[in-house]
Amino acid sequence: MRWDNLVENPATAGETALFGTSAVTTRTFDTPEFRGITFHEVRARSILNRVPGASRMPFEWTVNPYRGCSHACVYCFARKTHSYLDLDTGLGFDSQIVVKINAPDLLRRQLASRQWHGAHVAMGTNVDCYQRAEGRYRLMPGIISALRDRANPFSILTKGTLILRDLDLLVQAAAVTDVGISVSVGFIDETLWRTVEPGTPAPERRLDVVRTLTDHGIGCGVLMAPVIPFLGDRPDQLRATVKAIAASGATSVTPLVLHLRPGAREWFMAWVAEHHPHLVRRYERLYAEGAYAPKWYQRRITRHVHELAAEFGIGPADRGMPRRIRTPEAAVEEAVAPTQLTLL
Ligand code: SF4
Repeated sequence: MRWDNLVENPATAGETALFGTSAVTTRTFDTPEFRGITFHEVRARSILNRVPGASRMPFEWTVNPYRGCSHACVYCFARKTHSYLDLDTGLGFDSQIVVKINAPDLLRRQLASRQWHGAHVAMGTNVDCYQRAEGRYRLMPGIISALRDRANPFSILTKGTLILRDLDLLVQAAAVTDVGISVSVGFIDETLWRTVEPGTPAPERRLDVVRTLTDHGIGCGVLMAPVIPFLGDRPDQLRATVKAIAASGATSVTPLVLHLRPGAREWFMAWVAEHHPHLVRRYERLYAEGAYAPKWYQRRITRHVHELAAEFGIGPADRGMPRRIRTPEAAVEEAVAPTQLTLL
């Protein structure tokens, strides 16, 4: 493994080694929850990560306490980042998890630096910071506390219901700074969920998170991602999903069609070949031009979801949002060539 290459972005690979080989401790836990997962504990040298090409993104800085994600979404395009460590981008991405155990202390120190001017910090933009590992390592309470104590604005995008463990901290932070929470729910089809997002909480449980956050005065949007062509894009599926999102009290819904960047593409297509072999040719045709579905397809889905959102009374983003709360997802749509967002 190339631990000296553990950098946040491929654009900076080789420039900023975050820690050396000697800093890695490898552990496994023999509990059902963590069986088959290997954790690589590291002490990071830096935790605030500047996003390359930030002008296209709704944020400039990110904090990512983990690498790899046991939520194991087949389509996850953060898979590619595991290859920079010489780790496998398929099962290895799901089961070899890098944990930056000093993330809270380091963040507190970096936020206190004179060079730091309180920019918005986005989390959950690479892998899910509320994946299962967080239940054991509990890095997010320290991270949120550090941001709260500096009144530093931040946002979190997640599929993890574990975020509710930190509800009190989020409420405290939202009282002193801008906090945006988005939950990712691309569909509510249970069969599709079990096969394509096998390590995640059920979509309905994620919508419970939206409901709870909203009940506590924290406006929460839904990133409806990914909308999966041929499997999750039927009108009745879109309708059921948007209806459920509306019922959760989400402040906004932002659709994002599946994209298949290198690393994710191979893994996803192998999954299609195994579970839906009759769709292989159709996917090859739809993604013939590269990582993205054609514009006409993306526009069709976006228009349809927006019509449903209007029908069910959601959005537009920001309407009715509580003061001091903002969501990052409206801008995500513009950044539809995201190099940082993983369709969480
Ligand atoms: S899409 Fe998000 S939740 Fe799913 S594996 Fe990737 S980082 Fe984890």
